[in-house]
Amino acid sequence: MHELGLLSAMVKTIEGIAREERLERIEKIVLQVGELSGVVPAYLESCYPAAVYKTFMEDTELELEIVPGIARCTQCGREFNAVAEDLKCPGCGGVQLTACSGTELMIKEIVGC
Ligand SMILES: [Zn+2]
Repeated sequence: MHELGLLSAMVKTIEGIAREERLERIEKIVLQVGELSGVVPAYLESCYPAAVYKTFMEDTELELEIVPGIARCTQCGREFNAVAEDLKCPGCGGVQLTACSGTELMIKEIVGC
C-alpha cells in the first residue's frame, strides 16, 4: 500500500504552498484521482488521518474527485472507459490501449484561510 507515502509527500508539498501563500490554516484539499492511476481512493481516505496526524493539516478535510479512466484502442481508435470494459476494447477486442485520461493523481484545489 503506497497510498500513505503518497499522502505524506503531498502533505509536504501543500505545506510548502501554504507557506508561500501565507495560509494559516487549510480547510480543505481536493485531490483528483484517476481510475488508472493505480491509487485506490478508499485507501487514500483510510490513510489520510495517519498522513496528517500531528501536522498542520490535522483538521483539513479531504475531498476526492475521481477522474474516469478513458483509454483509446490503438487498433480501431475507439475511446472507452477502460475500467468498465476491463481493459479490453468493446469494439474489436483489442488490448493495446493508450490512456487518454484517468492516470493523474494531483492536487486540484487548496482551500485555505
Ligand atoms: Zn478496438
